Amino acid sequence: MGSQHILINGAGPAGLSLAIALAKRNIRSTLFEIRLEPTTMGGAIALAPNALRVLDQTIGIYDQIRHLGFEYEYIELYSEDGWRLGGLVNGDRQAYGYPALRIYRSTIMEALLKCVNDYSTLIIIHWNSSINKIAESDTGVEVTLLDGSTVNGDILVGADGIHSKIREYVLRDRAPTPIYGGRYGIGGHVDRDEIDWKHFTLPAILFSHRGAVLLFPITPDGNKIAWAIQITVPEKTREGWLEYLNSGAALEDIRNQFADAGQVSLLTLDYFH
Ligand SMILES: Cc1cc2nc3c(=O)[nH]c(=O)nc-3n(C[C@H](O)[C@H](O)[C@H](O)COP(=O)(O)OP(=O)(O)OC[C@H]3O[C@@H](n4cnc5c(N)ncnc54)[C@H](O)[C@@H]3O)c2cc1C
Repeated sequence: MGSQHILINGAGPAGLSLAIALAKRNIRSTLFEIRLEPTTMGGAIALAPNALRVLDQTIGIYDQIRHLGFEYEYIELYSEDGWRLGGLVNGDRQAYGYPALRIYRSTIMEALLKCVNDYSTLIIIHWNSSINKIAESDTGVEVTLLDGSTVNGDILVGADGIHSKIREYVLRDRAPTPIYGGRYGIGGHVDRDEIDWKHFTLPAILFSHRGAVLLFPITPDGNKIAWAIQITVPEKTREGWLEYLNSGAALEDIRNQFADAGQVSLLTLDYFH
């Protein structure tokens, strides 16, 4: 077992990936994750070749996940009236070595967590845990956790996301405070045969004067389409956001805000459930 020991705050995709990459080089790591238990929540995401190269060549889970999502190279761009505006390259086997992959974030997290289990002698994860105090010395770093216990390591890595405590520690009063940008994202699914796609080639982004709609197949056969859309909504509390989604108010707002947006309004009215 390696003598180096890396401390990582946060067991999201970045923290887990780093721990696996270190383990492959026989370096130990200990992760502190504020959530009570492993969580595989999250919607559909698109992975470009830069991320896939890491998952393939550094982490080694690409072959497990690539057939669980939808592979594609181009995204077609349309106006709200259905005019094709152009296309953009999201992945390219020849130029970048990989097509893009639309896949559930939960599928990636499951594969990473399984891989972490394979390195149980090198990777330890403390769930329901977070760093309260950091003390640096010439030889390493000692962290005090919220329960008062201490752990020593050679270096400490912040992989604790947008509200990172480690970033606050490093940057002090220069640390940026994340603010809500005013746009709320929501997504869902439709079956391919629910919609007459004759005007569109998928994956597609439809631009309207109210905002863009993403329409990306998510299953390997392309028969399930994941849609995603953003609307302008005033900030809410965590409970307020859940109520907004679960009461159906979010979908209602989408339909109202996109009511005059051509093809997009037809999609939001008839197919976005
Ligand atoms: C709506 C949306 C769509 C997106 N779509 C895409 C996409 O299509 N393609 C793409 O590549 N990326 C996409 N992203 C970005 C992607 O989700 C992030 O880049 C990615 O999640 C970052 O991973 P991370 O591990 O750095 O941080 P996170 O996923 O935020 O994980 C941080 C972890 O740290 C934990 N944590 C937080 N605070 C503490 C603390 N104080 N102590 C201990 N643990 C803590 C959290 O619980 C979490 O587990 C999208 C993001 C959003 C919001």
